[in-house]
Amino acid sequence: MIPFTYTRATSSQDAVRAAAQGHGRFIAGGTNLLDLMKLQVETPTQLVDITRLPLDTVEHTSDGGLRIGAMVRNSDLAANGIVRRDYAVLSRALLAGASGQLRNMATTGGNLLQRTRCYYFYDTAMPCNKRTPGSGCGALDGVNRIHAVVGASPSCIAVHPSDMAVAMRALDARIETLNPDGATRTIPIADFHRLPGTTPHVDTNLRPGELITAVVLPPPLPGTHLYRKVRDRASYAFALVSVAAVIDHDRGTIRSARLAFGGLAHKPWRVEAAEQLLISGGKAALPKVADAVLAGARTYGGNDFKVPLLKRTLYAVINEALQA
Ligand code: SF4
Repeated sequence: MIPFTYTRATSSQDAVRAAAQGHGRFIAGGTNLLDLMKLQVETPTQLVDITRLPLDTVEHTSDGGLRIGAMVRNSDLAANGIVRRDYAVLSRALLAGASGQLRNMATTGGNLLQRTRCYYFYDTAMPCNKRTPGSGCGALDGVNRIHAVVGASPSCIAVHPSDMAVAMRALDARIETLNPDGATRTIPIADFHRLPGTTPHVDTNLRPGELITAVVLPPPLPGTHLYRKVRDRASYAFALVSVAAVIDHDRGTIRSARLAFGGLAHKPWRVEAAEQLLISGGKAALPKVADAVLAGARTYGGNDFKVPLLKRTLYAVINEALQA
């Protein structure tokens, strides 16, 4: 047992001040952090409970977008009428994630911060650069069925497990935060999660003690919203590959396209050049689109199947969108 202090924050300012002391962590739904603490993968000295903070509303922004409080539960967000109508790709992605019970607890902010499900990360008897920097990577020559094919490094080949974040990447969400010094900032989701490089233990570009307060979606995108997730079983499994797509077309002529991918990389994966290839070349350009998404791909034996699986899933999603 590693001792820690527990503080229930009554305001966002209190929360960031408390978390900045020692090795602090915010706790909300706790669906990932508690597991990590039980396994002693995470050992915070300060646990700051933010469940009572008034960050649980979903409201329109002045430009027609949507601000989602960090404490909005995944179930509530998936069922929200505005999200279902205007951001269906997000609702679908949320419902593809975890189980009903977990979605009832999991929050918008926490979902963005969940850590990889790499087996070796959770096994403290095994080397893992993400858990213990410099110890090595058990997955490189081990069981790597679920691991990355793009954006990885010799230090870490883990993937980000969130479905919600993949849809948010397709939608160009922005993440609002509060820092311990009282300053706020907005981080584009493209810059929020990091690739592993030589520092795989650092998952995001948040600063110590920085609190996610909301996620802001731009005004709705026209077109068909789809989220397809391929996994080892029908429910409660992380994506082997997933595709979030928002495709607007007129009888097959694609006017706009957004594509983001899960299960491929250390962060939700999006290649804007691939979207342009799809817009300019239509369905006939799909092989080039897939090649652009997978540019620089490398597999590690156990996950070789991901490259053809990604291609087939992408083709299926685009065909479904064009038939809509
Ligand atoms: Fe650790 Fe990353 Fe290697 Fe998994 S892939 S063992 S998380 S360093």
